[in-house]
Amino acid sequence: MSRRTVVVVGAGPAGLSAARAAARAGADVTLLDASDQVGGQFWRHRALPGGGTAPDEPTFHHGWGTFTALRDVVATHPRVTLLTSAQVWALERLDAGVRLRVLVGPADGAGREHLTLTPDALVLATGAHDRTLPFPGWQLPGVTTAGAAQALAKAERVAVGDRVVVAGAGPFLLPVASSLLRTGARVLSVHEAATPASMARGWGARPAGLLGAAHKAGELGGYVGTLARHRVAYRLGEAVVAARGDGRVEEVTVARVDARWSPVPGTERTVAADAVCVSHGFTPRLELAVAAACAISPDRFVVVDDEQRTSAAGVWAAGELTGIGGAEAALAEGWVAGHHAASGAPDDAGLARAARRRARSADFARRLDAAHGIRGGWTSWLRDDTLVCRCEEVDAGTLRAAACATGSADLRSVRLTSRAGLGPCQARICGRTVAELVGATEPAPGGDTGSAPAVPDRRPLVVPVRLGDLATLPDVPAADAP
Ligand SMILES: Cc1cc2nc3c(=O)[nH]c(=O)nc-3n(C[C@H](O)[C@H](O)[C@H](O)COP(=O)(O)OP(=O)(O)OC[C@H]3O[C@@H](n4cnc5c(N)ncnc54)[C@H](O)[C@@H]3O)c2cc1C
Repeated sequence: MSRRTVVVVGAGPAGLSAARAAARAGADVTLLDASDQVGGQFWRHRALPGGGTAPDEPTFHHGWGTFTALRDVVATHPRVTLLTSAQVWALERLDAGVRLRVLVGPADGAGREHLTLTPDALVLATGAHDRTLPFPGWQLPGVTTAGAAQALAKAERVAVGDRVVVAGAGPFLLPVASSLLRTGARVLSVHEAATPASMARGWGARPAGLLGAAHKAGELGGYVGTLARHRVAYRLGEAVVAARGDGRVEEVTVARVDARWSPVPGTERTVAADAVCVSHGFTPRLELAVAAACAISPDRFVVVDDEQRTSAAGVWAAGELTGIGGAEAALAEGWVAGHHAASGAPDDAGLARAARRRARSADFARRLDAAHGIRGGWTSWLRDDTLVCRCEEVDAGTLRAAACATGSADLRSVRLTSRAGLGPCQARICGRTVAELVGATEPAPGGDTGSAPAVPDRRPLVVPVRLGDLATLPDVPAADAP
């Protein structure tokens, strides 16, 4: 009898864990990642020429031992085929299951190899990218997302500037500040928009529940220690509300914000800096899940059951795609997803342990959202001329006028009228912001969970693909109509 085939898309903590669990449960596993190395965002690292990692690599990471163990399993397991530099660029629904289109080869290189996969089961572990709210001047060179700064620091040992301000919301700001310090930057200050009251509500409620996240205390302590050693101020209830400079950022305005994140008049001050790293949370990479017709929740995550099974037949999901809970949650969810996708035994002891870890992480995710979740008052730091869609240079005033003129909060009509979200990033950066600014709603894609804030996550081509690659696409039978 042929073995069950499982494809896992994404080799971050969730995908690595899913691949190992699926192989352990007896399936033939193909693990794909668009990156040229495994590890995802959490374990993004510097690959040395000829393979191997730098001796100082573990100092940039938490759980490096967990990573190397997972990496070694997926690289050597006889039932795991690992493909890096393998970009899934489309997903089609079939009568039974799904078909994945993959291009294998250096990113954006010509002549990449085509691969078409029709697995018995699919685990989506495509992660998230960071979300940055716009502010006047955020388009200036020198302003980056905190995620970009972190990726450069971890993978290239490059700091985005000499005198850096880190701002936004969420504990992610701490590892970013830490990595910048390690790469030699001077971090001037970290500004967390969450107020002391919302921090207390999120992290202080039901203290006993925090015991489940005890492993995080060491990680947190490490960051706090690093910041203290370098005398970096960490300020709650503050936001960067503007950046200025001649050709690149030279200074930022920092203001105190209230519980709704509206700047408090009279609290503004100027900080001279040559780089600003800003992130206000994460937004999941939903394209493949939407193409598979997975139900999406009103807060834009893939809806899964206890087995991490989505509403789409034969499709499981794990990690940041299903909620923002950090790497520990991603590992646990990946385990559960991979095991069930491979039809593993329901009474497996490892499964039970992973499910318990997942339950503990769910509490952490709820606290994260309660403390640091984006509050609506941020829109009051926008001016009419603040760019919202940077690709098409559409400002906040134009967007509001377009929504008013069309008399509609329908995202499609706002996009077509203003061109917001139609540029190269295809609304990955501005999509949620535009939707929130114009109050757009639409039925949740593929699901029955009611109306959700509209976000243009339907991208039949997940990433830009060369016409030459499309021209050499191998013939396959037609897929179901979407
Ligand atoms: C830029 C960035 C940096 C981060 N750094 C940290 C950090 O230092 N510390 C921390 O605690 N948290 C960090 N996070 C949060 C972190 O993402 C999670 O805690 C954790 O990595 C989530 O694991 P995951 O497996 O769900 O997703 P990820 O780790 O994001 O892995 C998803 C993987 O899927 C791959 N992928 C996506 N789409 C496709 C496709 N179509 N085809 C093929 N492959 C695909 C990606 O290349 C990626 O490797 C970071 C997040 C971001 C966005």
